[in-house]
Amino acid sequence: MALSGIQIYKMLPQTNCKECGFPTCLAFAMKLAAKQVELAACPYVSEESKAKLAESATPPIRLVTLKSDGFEVKAGNEVVLFRHEKTFYNKPGIFIKVRADASPEEIKAQVTAAGAYTTNYVGLELFLDGFAVEASGDAQAFASAVQAVRGASHKPLILISRDPAVMAAGLDALDGEVPLVYAADPGNWEAMADLAKQHKAALAVSASTLEELADLTEKIKAKGVEDLVLDPDSQSLSSSVVQQTQIRRLALKKNFKALGYPSIAFPTDEASAAQAIAKYAGFIVLDHFAPELAYPLLVLRQNIYTDPQKPIQVQPGLYEINNPKAEDPLLVTTNFSITYFSVANEVEGSGLPAWLMVADAEGMSVLTAWAAGKFDAERIAKAVKTFNVADKVSRKRIVIPGHVAVLSGELEGELPGWEIRVGPREAVDLPSFMKQAL
Ligand code: SF4
Repeated sequence: MALSGIQIYKMLPQTNCKECGFPTCLAFAMKLAAKQVELAACPYVSEESKAKLAESATPPIRLVTLKSDGFEVKAGNEVVLFRHEKTFYNKPGIFIKVRADASPEEIKAQVTAAGAYTTNYVGLELFLDGFAVEASGDAQAFASAVQAVRGASHKPLILISRDPAVMAAGLDALDGEVPLVYAADPGNWEAMADLAKQHKAALAVSASTLEELADLTEKIKAKGVEDLVLDPDSQSLSSSVVQQTQIRRLALKKNFKALGYPSIAFPTDEASAAQAIAKYAGFIVLDHFAPELAYPLLVLRQNIYTDPQKPIQVQPGLYEINNPKAEDPLLVTTNFSITYFSVANEVEGSGLPAWLMVADAEGMSVLTAWAAGKFDAERIAKAVKTFNVADKVSRKRIVIPGHVAVLSGELEGELPGWEIRVGPREAVDLPSFMKQAL
C-alpha cells in the first residue's frame, strides 16, 4: 500500500541537508509520496528504510529519458489516469519519421525543416522533439541515414528496425547519446536487449497482446535493460484507446510493474495523433512533417500537459506595445497568459502605442481574480509603484478593464493624483476605445 508523505518522512534522516535538491526532508517525502522523485536522490536513507520505502519510492510508470547533445525527451512518471485528478507531467515527445531509403539530401531537407519549426502559443515556444529513422533493411544505408540526420539536427532519435544487425549499424553511428531502439519483439528480443544494454539505449518492446507484452518486458528486464517503452501494436483508434487505458490503469491502480513503462504510438492521421496525446502515449512518431499538422498537435499537447491548478502565467511587469512614448496611454490587466495575450494582441494589431501594466493576480483572468480578491485596487496600486510606472508615463492616467469598473473609486484612493478611466469589458473593443476616448 502507498505510504503518505508523513509516513515516509518518519523514515528519512530528517537532517534537512538539501542534497536531494529539496529544502527539507519533508518536502522530499511529499514528492516521494506523489511518486515524482526517485528515492536514490537521498544518499543518506538507511538500508532498513530503503527496503520499507522501495514500494512507495518506485514510480508506477518508469521515467524514460532520451538524450542527445543538449536535448532531452522524458516520458513516464505519470501518477493519474485523468488530468483533472492532479496533472500530467511529461509531455509526450513528438518525433518525425525519416526513411533511410531517402537520399542524404532529402533527409537533410526534411530534418532541417522539421527541426527549425517553432511556434509561439500564449508566450510559450513550442517545437518538435526529435526524429525517428526507419531502416530499409540495409545496414550501411541505415548508418548513413542516421549520420545524415545527425548532420542536420542534434535532437534525440528513435531508431527503427527489427533486424539486430541493421540496428547495430545505426547505433554504431551515434556517440554518447541515449536513443530509443525500436523494437524488441518475441522473435528478436534477446539480441535487441543485448544491443540496448551495450549502447545504454532505451528499448521499445512490441507485442500484439498485453499478456505477451508483459511477458517480454519481464524477460528483458531480467537481462538488465530497465528503460523500456511499450508498443501495444494497436491496429485501430478504438483498440489503441482500450490498450493504452488498460496499460495506464494496470500500472497505476494495480501497481503492475510489467506494464509500468511509457508507451509509443505511430498515429496514421490527425485524429489518431490527437488521441495518442490525450491517451496516453509517451513517444509519438508522426509519418511526416507538416506545419498544419504540427501546430494543432503541439497546442493540444500544451493544453493537456499543464497543471489544471496552475494557470499559465506571464511575468508581471510593464510591457511596451508598439514603442510607446511617455504621453501614450497606460492600460492594466492581469497576468493570466490568455488574458494578457488577448489584450496585447488587440492593441498590437491596432498599431496604437500603449503601456500595458500586468499586475500579479496569481495567474487568474480579470473577473476571476477580482472575485477571488487577487485583482483589487491595492494590488493595482502596488504594481504601479513596483514597476515605477510614474517614471515612464507623463500623464497619470490608468485604464482599468470594464469588468472591474467597480474598483475606480477605491483605486482613486490608492493612487492619489491619478485619473482612473474605465475601459471596455472585452479586449477586442480596446482599439476603438483608445481611438475615441483616450
Ligand atoms: Fe533529507 Fe535526504 Fe534530502 Fe538530505 S538528501 S534533505 S537527508 S531527504
